[in-house]
Amino acid sequence: MDLGIKGKRALVCAASKGLGRGCAEALAEAGVALVLNARGASALEETAQAIRARYGVEVTTVAADITSEAGRAQVLAAAGPVDILVTNAGGPPPGMWSDWEREDFIRALDANMLTPIALMKALLPGMMAQGWGRVINITSASVRAPIGVLGLSNAARSGLTGYVAGTARQVAPQGVTINNLLPGIHDTDRAAALDGAVMQAQGIPLDEARAQRMATIPARRYGTAAEFGAACAFLASQHAGFIVGQNLLLDGGAFHSTV
Ligand code: NAP
Repeated sequence: MDLGIKGKRALVCAASKGLGRGCAEALAEAGVALVLNARGASALEETAQAIRARYGVEVTTVAADITSEAGRAQVLAAAGPVDILVTNAGGPPPGMWSDWEREDFIRALDANMLTPIALMKALLPGMMAQGWGRVINITSASVRAPIGVLGLSNAARSGLTGYVAGTARQVAPQGVTINNLLPGIHDTDRAAALDGAVMQAQGIPLDEARAQRMATIPARRYGTAAEFGAACAFLASQHAGFIVGQNLLLDGGAFHSTV
């Protein structure tokens, strides 16, 4: 399918690995020029070089912490106006409800709620002025069904989801769509870290922890970054202009519901 976005320009945050990289690759395949961000410069450069070589699109890199004000300023200055924004950052650490203090919540809110909001605030005006834009926020399945040990994520991402629900309706008249992608368990470094946390908490081998988590998914496997990226590219495409303020769950059927 021709996604109709060849020649557009996208900022993809936290994109040297995992789901962000999956989104970057799928957009590059559709002919989109990229501005990619992550903190670690060497993995970011490697990813950028692999994408340039494979898809022949222009890729600019900005090594910075997207959750800090200074990092965001650096990324936004390098990006300039963009047609497509994919927000993403690392997820908060797991723990128990009784572990977290105010500062832990502030960090999680900064990373997974206030950072995407700040990026939208900076880039939506340009999209609205040109009458076309796409924002895709990488959130989490924890927005639909809470994950006990990820209380910081449950809280911060729910806040972002509420913000998007209202804002998406305010910018839609100008041809700009905002939607969220909700990953269930995908085979990335983050999933491996959470497998490790289950291993430690239960004192079981890593492959048993992984098998235990896989058994909760009707598809009986973890998702892939490529599948996730394809969904992102579709939401960024010309075909998705009537999809506004939605939360698309990619979880292999793990969340049980009729609708
Ligand atoms: P990942 O494989 O660990 O990749 C994270 C990427 O983000 C890396 O490129 C990392 O590079 C970059 N990054 C992390 N913190 C950053 C920061 N502060 N500023 C800029 N870049 C940053 O993680 P993932 O699995 O793709 O997860 C992406 C998001 O989806 C996370 O918020 C995660 O919690 C959420 N999620 C993932 C899953 C899953 O199963 N994978 C499920 C639900 C939700 P550097 O470390 O070099 O910065």
